[in-house]
Amino acid sequence: MAEAAPGCATPPDVLVIGGGITGGTAAIALAEAGARVTVLDAGLPAGSAANAGSLHVQLQSRFLRLFPELAPNVEASLPLYVQAVREWEALARRLGGFDLVRAGGLMLAGSAAQMRFLEAKAAREAARGVAVELLDRAGLERIAPWAGPGIVGAELCRDEGKLDPLLANRRLAEHAAALGVVRLSGRAVALTADPAAILADGRRLAAGQILLAAAWGSGAMTASLGCPLPSRAEPLHMNITEPAAPAIGQLIQHAERPITLKQLGTGQIVIGGGWPALAAEPVPRVHPGSLLGNVALAGEIAPALGTLRVIRCWAGYNTTLDGRTALGRLPRAGRVIVAIPGDAGYTLGPLVGRAAAALALGTPPPFDVAPCDPARFWS
Ligand SMILES: Cc1cc2nc3c(=O)[nH]c(=O)nc-3n(C[C@H](O)[C@H](O)[C@H](O)COP(=O)(O)OP(=O)(O)OC[C@H]3O[C@@H](n4cnc5c(N)ncnc54)[C@H](O)[C@@H]3O)c2cc1C
Repeated sequence: MAEAAPGCATPPDVLVIGGGITGGTAAIALAEAGARVTVLDAGLPAGSAANAGSLHVQLQSRFLRLFPELAPNVEASLPLYVQAVREWEALARRLGGFDLVRAGGLMLAGSAAQMRFLEAKAAREAARGVAVELLDRAGLERIAPWAGPGIVGAELCRDEGKLDPLLANRRLAEHAAALGVVRLSGRAVALTADPAAILADGRRLAAGQILLAAAWGSGAMTASLGCPLPSRAEPLHMNITEPAAPAIGQLIQHAERPITLKQLGTGQIVIGGGWPALAAEPVPRVHPGSLLGNVALAGEIAPALGTLRVIRCWAGYNTTLDGRTALGRLPRAGRVIVAIPGDAGYTLGPLVGRAAAALALGTPPPFDVAPCDPARFWS
């Protein structure tokens, strides 16, 4: 016999499994439309709690290097990233307090060969309607005078930006609570074929619909409904420095080397870019080689950073799928909607979350969700 979630008198209209940026913003959109929503989250160190706050638009060289066979999937999704940054801006205007700045993103090149790589990449992006520019060293120096002597030029995408995810997550959580969204944390759940959510203590939770936004954890749950998804956990490393005087306005990446770098409103520099952490349950562990390598690379790109102290480092689980967002109802369990954003999922999260809520509500989603149909994994 299914029952209401603990602490709730009646079953919710929608049970959201996974309370990261996707599930969290879906819950907000549902509650704003008048639905009763409960969010169940395992409380794992997931991407939304661990991420770097980069708002990505241009193709990331890291993804092209690691998953060249999946690059066409991200490339086809490029217009979605432009829309996703606009979605973040609209949220920030509405709720405030995210430290969101859209001052563009630079991908730096350290050689003529890397500039040629950026030229080819820029042509692919322009073909998808993304506005990008190529800068030589003189052009770069006008907006990034801190760039190290080894940098010869860059690609600039003015639609990119950055925010402080700790501030954004807190503000979104406050807003969800004010709307009456019930959040139960520290509860890993499984799904049954009926479908219902099963808590670790064996209790079955009833709901009108189930919105599955559990990132890498989603695959095991959809498999139990006969629809396996290849969602995988990827443990990644992050660093943050002590505050410095404002110097770096843009989101910074490199054409060949793994780095993202940005300065927050606090003056702190957040340094990441896909350096590996060590997989461990339930919390991934920091890899000393990633700490040192990541920071050394930042100092090479922007030598002034070399005097700053790293005050904290951490690891969290990113999710990889096939590079493209998975969003839609499960064919064998129509009351279950799956929502896993594509690469750079924190950027995509609020847009994908609102689209998932629209599917649950039966209203038009904010973009064409047909290319995101998870049925591609089973047909
Ligand atoms: C170190 C790092 C840096 C990153 N930097 C960026 C960045 O700068 N910009 C960007 O766009 N993206 C970035 N990403 C990727 C991004 O953070 C994720 O793609 C995004 O947060 C995914 O959001 P989500 O809500 O879909 O899933 P998640 O944030 O992964 O949340 C999934 C939730 O599901 C819960 N869950 C899982 N299994 C279960 C279960 N069985 N039962 C109940 N709950 C469950 C987990 O506890 C978790 O809270 C980064 C990722 C990492 C790890």
